[in-house]
Amino acid sequence: MPEPPVPGNCLTRVLVHTPAHSQMAGALSYWSEAPLPPGTLVRVPLGQRELLGVVWSIDSTSASDATLDPAKLRPVTTVLDAMPPLSAHWRDLIRFAASYYQRAAGEVALAALPPQLRDMSSVQLKRRLKKLATATAKRTQAVVKPATETDTAPTPEPDAATPAVVLTQEQHQAISQFHQQPGPFLLFGATGSGKTEVFMHCTAALLASRPEAQALVMVPEINLTPQLEARFKARFCPLYGTDAVVSMHSGMSPAQRLNSWLAAHSGAARVVLGTRMAVFASMPQLQLIVVDEEHDPSYKSSEGARYSARDLAIYRGHLEGAKVMLGSATPSLESWHHSRPAEEGGRYLRLEMPSRIGRGQLPLVRRVDMNHQPKSCIISAPLLAAITQRIARGEQSMVFLNRRGYAPVLQCSDCDWKSECPHCSAYRVFHKIDRTLRCHHCGLSERVPRACPACGNPDITPLGRGTERLEEHLAELLAGVQRPDGQPVRIVRIDADTTRLKGALESQLAQVHTGEVDVLVGTQMIAKGHDFRRITLVAAVNPDNALFSSDFRAPERLFSLLMQAAGRAGRDETVTNQSEMWLQTFLPKHPLYEALKKHDYPAFAASQLKERQQAAMPPFSFQALIRAEARSQEAAQGFLTLASQAASSQSDTATLLTQITLYPAVPMSMARIANIERAQMLVESPSRTALQRFLNAWQGVLHSTRAHPECKGVIRWAIDVDPHNI
Ligand code: ADP
Ligand code: ZN
Ligand code: ZN
Repeated sequence: MPEPPVPGNCLTRVLVHTPAHSQMAGALSYWSEAPLPPGTLVRVPLGQRELLGVVWSIDSTSASDATLDPAKLRPVTTVLDAMPPLSAHWRDLIRFAASYYQRAAGEVALAALPPQLRDMSSVQLKRRLKKLATATAKRTQAVVKPATETDTAPTPEPDAATPAVVLTQEQHQAISQFHQQPGPFLLFGATGSGKTEVFMHCTAALLASRPEAQALVMVPEINLTPQLEARFKARFCPLYGTDAVVSMHSGMSPAQRLNSWLAAHSGAARVVLGTRMAVFASMPQLQLIVVDEEHDPSYKSSEGARYSARDLAIYRGHLEGAKVMLGSATPSLESWHHSRPAEEGGRYLRLEMPSRIGRGQLPLVRRVDMNHQPKSCIISAPLLAAITQRIARGEQSMVFLNRRGYAPVLQCSDCDWKSECPHCSAYRVFHKIDRTLRCHHCGLSERVPRACPACGNPDITPLGRGTERLEEHLAELLAGVQRPDGQPVRIVRIDADTTRLKGALESQLAQVHTGEVDVLVGTQMIAKGHDFRRITLVAAVNPDNALFSSDFRAPERLFSLLMQAAGRAGRDETVTNQSEMWLQTFLPKHPLYEALKKHDYPAFAASQLKERQQAAMPPFSFQALIRAEARSQEAAQGFLTLASQAASSQSDTATLLTQITLYPAVPMSMARIANIERAQMLVESPSRTALQRFLNAWQGVLHSTRAHPECKGVIRWAIDVDPHNI
């Protein structure tokens, strides 16, 4: 028996969500009547408030403990002991993420917990846990049926180890490698090569190997991949019960999110399907992490701790001894580089599945040289003819353009007036449907003026094209064309504007699936993930922009987007006509399009990596961005410049600077949003460790620089480690 604790005598460290850059970055001290194991959830007072917190280990290196006056400490208010503490692995993951991404551990930890937990009393939590337990017991007794099923999901068999499909040779090979090797793995498989089937197979094997084993399956945006969710549910719910597969994403209600989280934490959930936030799910028996479409930019958080869920998945797998499998048809160049042969330094094992399942062939890529088309042509004659032909055959086409709205700018034909946003360095976009000018950055929305606000000229005209205008234009071009049943052509547009209402996306997608729609127009939203069976033509109207971008990752993103889009076509083997991907371009000979034509991701990756190596860019160097926001551009840049100068004058940072390049402060490409000026500074190093050391040491310098009287105008600053958009 342990000694009975002396009441009021236990020093307890508790992590709470303190403001990002407050000086209270570490855990705070409280006293509790009994010793509390690290990972226990508690409620503690902070000022006038009471906050949710996580008991953290006593940090022996902290000198301040000795000087703490126990009489001044406040007691822990409530111990949420109805549930087991968060594991040491979970706490290590939080600690690592906070330190790597330069944020407070309290912020990362509390953001990783379901929001509803923040306001719950011990009694409420107990009640919720009890309710969940009885519901689960009831359901596992009842006959279990898959919650949702789609026509694409294979009929589940009672034994997951022998699913309904007969694996292809390539799938077999990948799975047996997965079993034999420790990983991490990069499953490089063409769209439609059966990657999801491999994920499910590996998941099934691990779940069957141990009765408690859990698997985490991450997807970029769950709303866009409902089919994947349906397939996992269809496969695993019949085996382990409807509660065994839970989802975790921001589209869920707070109550649903808490339930999923508790199910994962208690071990009742065997499979967690989630977006990037799920990388922090508490899963005490985690055995496998799958990251589907691992190249997708949405795995990188763009606020708070700007973490990459893909990179954390690798770290977490290592920490917990769980296998990690990344999958993509167009891997990120980082993952591709990491999966080079081990002799060359590769750390991931690449598993290749180049062939599509069945007879579904990869589409033929056709380039239209827009230099030979009439000047203001939007849809070239050969593309229009091809779409018309598909309609006549009862097949579907998908046309995409990465710009929503009707026109990106309105312009006065007399004076210089353009529809600039008064608060941002951007134009307001013309939306014809409600005749508004909307700023896509600050949200400002106004009726379109009757006449030019500058000179009164009534003739103001749209400049350029968005999806709304493209849809209108296509409707005009295809007005006389008929479907095989004699009905007029049906066009539907899917973008952020048409899908704002709940359920709108689902119903629009359903229209496409049932074949009611002949032509689908949209932004990149439609190019990802969806399994559109009857689409035989995909067209990118104006993809060239990305080739001129100042962001060195733009070509990589364009290539993967176009490959993804091409992957939408020709998935149905009953449609025997060769499917096609059309590109309208002014640079038909561009190497990116050449590689795309051959569906040759490795060639594209090799040329990109060569360029990156020559320019010493990631993955051959490591970067961080410091961003500052201020009332004036001068103040934002001034702060960064001062902090940079301070770095070379202070000894702890100055010694590290030999391996660091600090670039000059510059305005961000969107320099002003909602009247706030934004500037950034790039920090680069050939060594990840050196960069980390420098950033750790520089944090303090940035804090003190911010307090400098010259930096009064600075509103906030943040560090973005491994930034995506430069
Ligand atoms: P990916 O994830 O690589 O795009 P999927 O796993 O979605 O590919 O597979 C594409 C289609 O092929 C799906 O409809 C899937 O059910 C089917 N499929 C996968 N593996 C097999 C197989 N071994 N035999 C028959 N059909 C398969
Ligand atoms: Zn004017
Ligand atoms: Zn604006």
